[in-house]
Amino acid sequence: MKKLFSFIAIIATVLTLVTGCGKKDDGRVRVIIVGTDGLRWQEVFSGVDPVLIGGYPMGKPYVKDTREERREALMPFTWNFVAKNGILIGDRESGSTFDVTNNMWFSYPGWSEIICGHADDEFANSNNPGPNRNVSVMEYANNDDRYRGKVLAFGGWDAFTHIINEERAGFPVNCGAFYSFPEGYVPTDNEAYIHRLQDGVPEYLGSVRSDAITHEYALEAMRSRHPEVLFIGYAETDDWAHRNRYDLTIFSCHNFDRYLKELWDCAQSDPFYKDRTIFIVTTDHGRGSAREQWTDHGKPGTPGSGETWCMIYGKGIPAKGVLTSGNYYTNQIAPTAAKWLGIELPAHEGQGEPLDIENL
Ligand SMILES: [Zn+2]
Repeated sequence: MKKLFSFIAIIATVLTLVTGCGKKDDGRVRVIIVGTDGLRWQEVFSGVDPVLIGGYPMGKPYVKDTREERREALMPFTWNFVAKNGILIGDRESGSTFDVTNNMWFSYPGWSEIICGHADDEFANSNNPGPNRNVSVMEYANNDDRYRGKVLAFGGWDAFTHIINEERAGFPVNCGAFYSFPEGYVPTDNEAYIHRLQDGVPEYLGSVRSDAITHEYALEAMRSRHPEVLFIGYAETDDWAHRNRYDLTIFSCHNFDRYLKELWDCAQSDPFYKDRTIFIVTTDHGRGSAREQWTDHGKPGTPGSGETWCMIYGKGIPAKGVLTSGNYYTNQIAPTAAKWLGIELPAHEGQGEPLDIENL
């Protein structure tokens, strides 16, 4: 009799799996890691610098009397939603800090530290050291039976192919201005349309793709492919800054905030993500804190450019708002994401501790 019952149970399970009927909740959270390249904590927490925005007409809507008004005008989702429902770290004027632990203070090392959970100054000491020898939390996820084939990555900068080490990682990385679909891949109608736009937009930023394109690809993937682990690396906030265009840096920052809202709204409108998704949002490095050095970054020439920020919101994240104390680091992001996913990151020299969210 016992045997018969287990036989019936097995048949029922198989039927459920095959038909998808009575789909059981897997109980897992979805994790979305988002970054935007080289956006300063000064803009995130204080809004536009009225001196740097100067006479640019584009800056007008963001110039306000107080710091609080300026930041809300620049990043309305961040200040009306994240600050009220999640956690913001790195407002040095309020008392908390967020910093990279690498000694480079530029992009490849910064992104690698974000996704791998440790710095590697020996290997990642340029923006082109080749395929990353370090392993990202997304790769560990993709190597886990629960998440295999459910990991996707998107980026503006073509270097993400190497930073994520796409070949070894085994999941697709859609990045760069010259991205093309993998052989045999059948794009959705929306993806085909986005691709046409990608190929029609002039390459203002070299190999870096417009954030609007990266964003639309990522949104479409959320809708059509339901990744459980998603990485998105936006780019423009760094590229316009290097070109000394504070107006366009601000434009891209404002759009970045809108992208965060659209990702959140997309998640909340889909039962696959709704009330079970955590966002962790950051940047790969800061920029010079001196007004005359805001365009640059790098150690040791540009003091302040190792200073970053982090926001966390979504499933189970308490509404702590802007932290007023504590020193936290970029190498804690991957271990934190791993903890949420229930993945064991192998110990590594320089690896950060997962953020103790309840006790920050
Ligand atoms: Zn840069």
